[in-house]
Amino acid sequence: MNAKPESDYDVIVAGGGAGGIGAALGAARAGARVLLVEKYGFLGGAATSSNVLAYCGFFQQGPEPIKAVGGVADLVLDELRALGLSCDPFRSPTTQNWIILLEPEAVKLALDRVIAAHGVDLLLHTRVAAVSRTADRLHAVTLAGMDGRRRVAAEAFVDATGDANLALIAGLACRTGDKRGHLQAVTGPIRVGGRDKSVPIDRTAIVEAFAAYNKTGAHPTARPDGGIFTEVPVTGDMWWMMYDHQLVDLTSESFTRAEQAARAAAHDYVRVLRESVPGFENAYLLQTGPQIGIRESRHPPARYELTGEDLLTGRRRPDGVARAAWPIETHSTPGRPVYKSIGGDGFADIPLDCLRARGVDNLFYAGRTIGADPDAYASIRVMGTAFATGEASGIAAAKSEA
Ligand SMILES: Cc1cc2nc3c(=O)[nH]c(=O)nc-3n(C[C@H](O)[C@H](O)[C@H](O)COP(=O)(O)OP(=O)(O)OC[C@H]3O[C@@H](n4cnc5c(N)ncnc54)[C@H](O)[C@@H]3O)c2cc1C
Repeated sequence: MNAKPESDYDVIVAGGGAGGIGAALGAARAGARVLLVEKYGFLGGAATSSNVLAYCGFFQQGPEPIKAVGGVADLVLDELRALGLSCDPFRSPTTQNWIILLEPEAVKLALDRVIAAHGVDLLLHTRVAAVSRTADRLHAVTLAGMDGRRRVAAEAFVDATGDANLALIAGLACRTGDKRGHLQAVTGPIRVGGRDKSVPIDRTAIVEAFAAYNKTGAHPTARPDGGIFTEVPVTGDMWWMMYDHQLVDLTSESFTRAEQAARAAAHDYVRVLRESVPGFENAYLLQTGPQIGIRESRHPPARYELTGEDLLTGRRRPDGVARAAWPIETHSTPGRPVYKSIGGDGFADIPLDCLRARGVDNLFYAGRTIGADPDAYASIRVMGTAFATGEASGIAAAKSEA
């Protein structure tokens, strides 16, 4: 597909997380001229902006890691390997699921490289801020960057913003949270430096320390089990998810309170480690954020919503374009994730209609914006699956005709 004279690009992808990277690479490999727009100064989405340091969804559940996602995601893993990450399947001791452990600086550089190698134009520090639209098509987006605003036209668009920001400004009616407006908990993942790496992390000591902290501490944890932690590859820091928070709505005021509470809790929690847990005597808070981890926000209207039933039965479909293999992992109550396994052969097909906007012909979805009911969303949102839906979405956008 070549850009028409009036269009600057064939495909504009909004958002540079796993979904947006998949979409940009998928569209570029299908021959499209692609612009990728990201509001932060680096790519990676939650992996690099919220310390989400594991790719889930690449493998099915089970005693052996059976691959469910390949394609452009493999190009990303190759770049990560070239930077010294093993990317071998790692079995989480907490959940027994297969994941790929990440180090955020390697992710940023690997993604810069893979995007450049495929000729994708990239604008960082740039936000998709407005859209021009007629009844059933988008025509251009207004980008707000360091140098002000500019209008860029394209033949097709991919909303990979995680929060459906493109669909929202295009005026599509979005659902917030589940069908009752209830949102999955946000979490403040942190990195802890300075621990004595010769001392294994003692979960029992953490549990006891936080049983005491929760009696009087300012930010009681909803994870009395010690939370989810592991060692970051290369650096050996501790990656720790211990602070969960219930968002009541999507207002900036709620996010401000959540960010500030998560930050204050992070300082408290590392102090508790330092004072009470062997091996952490010299520990310090290495990093929060840059932003809190948002599990769920709004869902734009798609032509089909994948259902929990599709996943629980491992439904196969002739129009499947990606695979969902991560278990349904629901965080309705802070600190209490509930897992349900995928049925059938251990994965379900995601049909193209999940990636297509309802009512707008040339708008596609990638990553956690795709059509999914609350149960299915709790599986498809993971980054491995987001690469896969992104790639399919980018290919479909590149092939879509005016
Ligand atoms: C606490 C927590 C733990 C998790 N654990 C895991 C895990 O271990 N493994 C896993 O695979 N998944 C995990 N997930 C889920 C996963 O991180 C996300 O669902 C996933 O990152 C979704 O990918 P995405 O590309 O759709 O969105 P995102 O990663 O959110 O990326 C969207 C990108 O769009 C950008 N953006 C947004 N609006 C605009 C705009 N208007 N203009 C330009 N850019 C914009 C954002 O800056 C961001 O970079 C976790 C999530 C949370 C919150």
